[in-house]
Amino acid sequence: MSEETTQSGTLANDGLPPLREVIATHGLSAQKKFGQNFLFDLNLTGRIARAAAPLDDATVIEIGPGPGGLTRALLFNGAKNLTVIERDPRCQPVLEQISNHYPGALHVIDGDALEVDVTKLGPAPRKIVANLPYNVGTQLLLGWLMQIDQFASLTLMFQKEVAERVVAGPKSKAYGRLSVLCQYLCDCDILFDVHRSAFTPPPKVTSAVVQLRPKPDRGTDINLASLAKITQAAFGQRRKMLRASLKTLNVNVGELLAKAEITETARAEELSVADFVRLTQAHDEMAAL
Ligand code: SAM
Repeated sequence: MSEETTQSGTLANDGLPPLREVIATHGLSAQKKFGQNFLFDLNLTGRIARAAAPLDDATVIEIGPGPGGLTRALLFNGAKNLTVIERDPRCQPVLEQISNHYPGALHVIDGDALEVDVTKLGPAPRKIVANLPYNVGTQLLLGWLMQIDQFASLTLMFQKEVAERVVAGPKSKAYGRLSVLCQYLCDCDILFDVHRSAFTPPPKVTSAVVQLRPKPDRGTDINLASLAKITQAAFGQRRKMLRASLKTLNVNVGELLAKAEITETARAEELSVADFVRLTQAHDEMAAL
C-alpha cells in the first residue's frame, strides 16, 4: 500500500504533500545526533494516533515531530490542540506548513523536550504521543512518570527492548527499575511491534508502541523519589542480595528488610511491585524517625 492509503484502503489524503516529497524538498536527511528514524507509513502513524483516541478533547503533546508523519496523523484523527516540540531547526518550515493547513490546531515549540514543562502546555486531559528519539526516550519517560497524575495517557514508540522493560514481570531479564516505576503508577501495555523496515533509515532493532495509563487508584500513596532511589540501589547491583545492594541507602538494611517483611538474601529481580512499595514505606518511616 502506498503511504497515502489507510488500513481500510480509502484515501487518507490530508491535502499536504507526501512525506517523501517533504523530506526531499526540505533536505531533511535523517541525522543520528538527533536520534532520527522517520516514519513514512501513514497506516502506521494513523494506527498510533488512533490508539491514543479520543484526541479532540485533549491537550495532545508530541515530542520530536520531525517531518510530521505522526503530527499529521494526530491532526487528521481529530487533535484540535496539539503542541509539538522539535529540536532540529531544519524541521520548522515543514511544521509551519502543517500548522497553516490546520489553523489554530498545531503549536510548534522549537526546543529541547528535556527542558520543556509539558504540563504547562494546556489543560487536562493531557496525552503524550510520540515516536521518541532513542537517545533520550527513557529519560523523558522517567520525567513524565514523576508527575504522572498530570497525564491521561502516554502512547510511545520505543525500541522493543525498552518496551519490554516497561511491561516485564519479576524474575525476568527485562524486569528492572523502569518496570517497577511504570507498573506502580500505570496500567502498561505493548500495543504492537513495528518492524525496523518501517523507518527511514531503519534502526538496528525492532520497535514497539507502548501505552501507559495512570492507575486511577494506586492504593498506597508513597514517595516517588524514595521509590526511584530504592529501585536504583536495588537494580543498580541486581546480581547482589538486597542486604548488600541496599547499603547505599544509608539506613540499617537488616531493620529495613525486616520491617518490609522481605528476606535479606532476596535479589531485586525477585521482588514484586508490591514488595517495592512496602520497602519504600518502611524506608520512609525509618527516615522520618
Ligand atoms: N515523529 C517523527 C516520525 O515519527 O517520523 C520523527 C521521530 S524520530 C525517532 C525522533 C525525533 O525527535 C526527531 O525528529 C528528532 O530531531 C527529535 N528530537 C531528538 N531529540 C529531541 C529533544 N531532546 N527534544 C525534542 N525533539 C528531539
